[in-house]
Amino acid sequence: MTSFQSLNIIEPILKSLEEEGYTTPTPIQEQAIPIVLQGTDLLGCAQTGTGKTAAFAIPILQILGANRSYDKKRKIRSLIVTPTRELAIQIDESFKAYGRHTGMTCTVIFGGVKQNPQTAILRNGVDILVATPGRLLDLMNQGFISLRDIEIFVLDEADRMLDMGFIHDVKKIIAALPRKRQSLFFSATMPDEIVTLASTILYKPKEVSVTPKSSTVDIIQQFVYFVDKGNKNGLLTEILKDPKIRTMLVFTRTKHGADKVVRILQKNKIKAEAIHGNKAQNARQRALTLFKAQEIRVLVATDIAARGIDVDDLGYVLNFEMPNISETYVHRIGRTGRAGADGIAISFCDATEKPYLKDIEKLISKKITVVDNHPFPLMDHHPVAPVKQQRGERRSSSPNQKRSSNSNPRESNNNKNKWRGR
Ligand code: AMP
Repeated sequence: MTSFQSLNIIEPILKSLEEEGYTTPTPIQEQAIPIVLQGTDLLGCAQTGTGKTAAFAIPILQILGANRSYDKKRKIRSLIVTPTRELAIQIDESFKAYGRHTGMTCTVIFGGVKQNPQTAILRNGVDILVATPGRLLDLMNQGFISLRDIEIFVLDEADRMLDMGFIHDVKKIIAALPRKRQSLFFSATMPDEIVTLASTILYKPKEVSVTPKSSTVDIIQQFVYFVDKGNKNGLLTEILKDPKIRTMLVFTRTKHGADKVVRILQKNKIKAEAIHGNKAQNARQRALTLFKAQEIRVLVATDIAARGIDVDDLGYVLNFEMPNISETYVHRIGRTGRAGADGIAISFCDATEKPYLKDIEKLISKKITVVDNHPFPLMDHHPVAPVKQQRGERRSSSPNQKRSSNSNPRESNNNKNKWRGR
């Protein structure tokens, strides 16, 4: 088995990896670290959860540390551009953790907050800068940041940059980089547009690719509950009666849906917060911090907001709706079972979502275990599209009611034991 030692990592970094509890490199680290250490450009097809941050952070720290400058003021020698604030913060934390015995310094900038604390740190000089595109350009334009001395540039989550409409910003940033540099480019998917973008940034790159499918999905225990749409809240509340569930990340399709789930959980005295695009940056960060500290039990998120959420020890991921794009399912459940840890993924599937389940099972090449015998079994097998109701009008059909005769929660507890005990 490959070890970090055999990848020729220097002692101060090995020490911090040991402190982090990393014993063996993940596949992306094993492949990418030697390439980056050689000074070669890299095209990495990998997503969050594979250990890709360390795959670039470790060799960057090592290269910068090997030829450090003794100028009075540190210059920015490595720049990492990433699409979201959450990712940026995590990358900065990773650099700080892996680099804690190297003497290298790192800072992070992102929008939605006051710039003064960020510019104050920049003014003192820093070796490594992690940034989201908007704030980076803003501070460049104001003269706080120069990219003149960048030796290693990383573009992270390039496909997400495209999705979020950052492509022009990214192009402007690239135009400001020195021509002579090493570039690392990461993307979870490689559509044509991304391949074109990569070709404008990279010089004779080596490619590495890791699929989360085999590395992540196989170790996650996956369960599906067939349940009517209107009973999903009830079932979630029921499942959360299990005290073994210390933290759970719940995915909803819409922002509105996320807020609704939070309201219902809070009504049931379950500590929950939502994280999505309509929330202010501060509120999102606060929710994430509370969740990481396990001061709230449930974080409800939409896909974009959840991208990059990295919580050690996340035991449970729950799909409140089946994602209609199968890859999204893999991305979502990859939030748990990180780096070899156990994880449980639960999905709620109503009758209309059954085709999505089929597609997902095809993609992951396995059947997801069905949990039946729960208190809210699927009753409405042919739901019709909801007709707009008049104010005050009541729904006539009642699939949304908890089964009365056989609703003994103990039954569901037994049932839960079924999946907990695996
Ligand atoms: P990333 O894909 O960079 O977001 O990393 C996913 C998670 O895996 C993070 O929580 C890292 O702390 C963790 N991790 C990264 N590399 C290793 C490793 N070699 N051994 C154990 N955990 C790791």
